[in-house]
Amino acid sequence: MCFVDTSPSVDIEASDLDAVGYVCADCGEKFRALGRRVKCPSCQGTNVKRE
Ligand SMILES: [Zn+2]
Repeated sequence: MCFVDTSPSVDIEASDLDAVGYVCADCGEKFRALGRRVKCPSCQGTNVKRE
């Protein structure tokens, strides 16, 4: 488990707590998402890995 949050003011939403960090294998985009069918928000690719 690796949760990195360096922002001084944190507004944590419930969905944020459950979100998992992913990295896109196609474009390298890092993002957080929920669920098992995860799409890259940048290139819409599904070739993503859990961070
Ligand atoms: Zn991508």
